[in-house]
Amino acid sequence: MIKVFKYRLYPTKKQAGFLVFQLEGHRYLYNQALAQRKELYQQTGKGIGYSLQATALLPKLRKENEQLAFCNYSSLQQTLRRLDKAFKAFFARIKSGEKAGPPRFKSAERFNTISYATPGDGCQIKENRLYLQNVGCIKVKWHRSIKGKVKTLSITRRNGKWYVSFAVECDPEPLPKIGKEVGIDLGLKAFVATSDGQQIEAPKYLRKSEKKLVKAQKRLSRRQKGSSRRRKAGVLLAKKHEEVANQRLDFCHKVAYCLVKAYDGFAVETLKVKAMVQNKYLSKSISDASWGMFLLILKGKAESAGRWYREVPSNGTSQRCSGCGEIVKKSLAVRTHNCPHCGLVLDRDQNAALNILKRAWTGPSALASKFEVSPRSCRL
Ligand SMILES: [Zn+2]
Repeated sequence: MIKVFKYRLYPTKKQAGFLVFQLEGHRYLYNQALAQRKELYQQTGKGIGYSLQATALLPKLRKENEQLAFCNYSSLQQTLRRLDKAFKAFFARIKSGEKAGPPRFKSAERFNTISYATPGDGCQIKENRLYLQNVGCIKVKWHRSIKGKVKTLSITRRNGKWYVSFAVECDPEPLPKIGKEVGIDLGLKAFVATSDGQQIEAPKYLRKSEKKLVKAQKRLSRRQKGSSRRRKAGVLLAKKHEEVANQRLDFCHKVAYCLVKAYDGFAVETLKVKAMVQNKYLSKSISDASWGMFLLILKGKAESAGRWYREVPSNGTSQRCSGCGEIVKKSLAVRTHNCPHCGLVLDRDQNAALNILKRAWTGPSALASKFEVSPRSCRL
């Protein structure tokens, strides 16, 4: 399995200058390659693939542009691959009937990553520092050691800070069996509600920061466009976004870690991406983003620990009684599930989590994923 290890970089002023110079080179290549694809499509109705752009366009541009000549060759190829991936994802979305726009030209603010395909080609670890071709040896904060074989690495700029991410191939490290499985309901009131009645709420500091984020967003929208006060408000907003994102990521990792230690398997609801995108409230969209990220993290940790993880359709999980299966209608405000058919009284979210766990055992998703370790065999 692939794991990502991310570290903060501390380039000198000169090195940071070189990094920005290379980013600009990569961005120029990205935009030129995108323009070529668009032009060709408009003129002939045909597309152009990665290999042709890498063998014809890249060498030509590299001769003309000094920024490109300054960049590592195989990392430039990675940027072309990135564009190719963006197009493939775009076509896949169209094919599946989704509303999708083609890849867009990148402004300097929106282009922040350079990738290297193989360690050793233009990048390597030298004397505890990260060596990059034409940049030099950059100081790295190694806050933990890398486990496994490095496949690719990428350099990212975020709010003026630099990071390096190593994608590493590593073996799963199974944890001892516990003998318990859990259904998980994600909600606004409790971030996580489990089928055995536990609730984990988002911490106060996170909700506080989220409020500050909303405030910063409002401040920005009050400022006049093009003014320096607006620019400053923009910088502040970006900082708040980063703060919230970091806190949220930290919280999600901690919750997922606790769960993976405590249970052998996880049944969660499939998130409806479309419904999430359409809602207009910022606070809601923040929790939506957290849920998606949380499930990704939980899935990764579960896989790494040899636990099973299964997503099931979420429709009707809160209305159906987990005891007798009858539908018990209730509005969002009703927090307790009170079944008139079998007399079951439960917390609303716990009832939903129980239904989710049940579906993982009996639903079509359980039958479709027969190659997975079945939850029933885990229970023995
Ligand atoms: Zn019932």
